[in-house]
Amino acid sequence: MTNYAVPPAAETLIPVIGSNALFPVRRIYCVGRNYAEHAREMGSDPNREPPFFFSKPRDAAVPGGGNMPFPPATDNLQHEVELVVAIGRGGLDIPEAHAPAHVYGYATGIDFTRRDLQMIAREKCHPWELGKGMDHGAPISAIVPASLGAPSVDAAIWLKVNDDSRQSARLNQMTWNVAEIIHRLSHFFELAPGDLIFTGTPGGVSTVHRGDTITCGIDDLPQLQVSLV
Ligand code: MN
Repeated sequence: MTNYAVPPAAETLIPVIGSNALFPVRRIYCVGRNYAEHAREMGSDPNREPPFFFSKPRDAAVPGGGNMPFPPATDNLQHEVELVVAIGRGGLDIPEAHAPAHVYGYATGIDFTRRDLQMIAREKCHPWELGKGMDHGAPISAIVPASLGAPSVDAAIWLKVNDDSRQSARLNQMTWNVAEIIHRLSHFFELAPGDLIFTGTPGGVSTVHRGDTITCGIDDLPQLQVSLV
């Protein structure tokens, strides 16, 4: 038996629809500004600045959502509903045409953002960790295996806060599609089984408060609900 110097961190395990298997998370990658409307609401020109990547800690993933402690050190927590791609087969420099063979499945996720801290970082050219990498900052639904079918290219992606609709778009409004994302990301990092990719959020991000319940979904994928406590 391994003699750990300190207790080892728990694995982050995501349920899989139609199976009792669990998906073990290795890394969480995220795409920034992958919908033109969201790029514009963030003050960027989608025609001049292409999407880009950042990451979150593995244990920021909260399988199934539920009650989420309101994070510290922010006066402007915002929701970003996103299609999440779960990687089943790794690789470097994966060609777009091969990308589907590397996908294990799909889920609905929220890229929670401390927008005030992210904006300070943006102004100062600092890293985004304080804005994006907080604990519990990446709730995610159960994963639907690609073998059961991928969401359709024009699937609706939506989010509401309490009963108010805040985000409503279609997956085909993404600037980079899933195959392009896998191709580009795998140029910089060797992808591996267990990696998650949050593929960016449509327009309509807004501030949420303690006591709010956030519900979101993507056609053909499980809904996700989070209550800020
Ligand atoms: Mn995002």
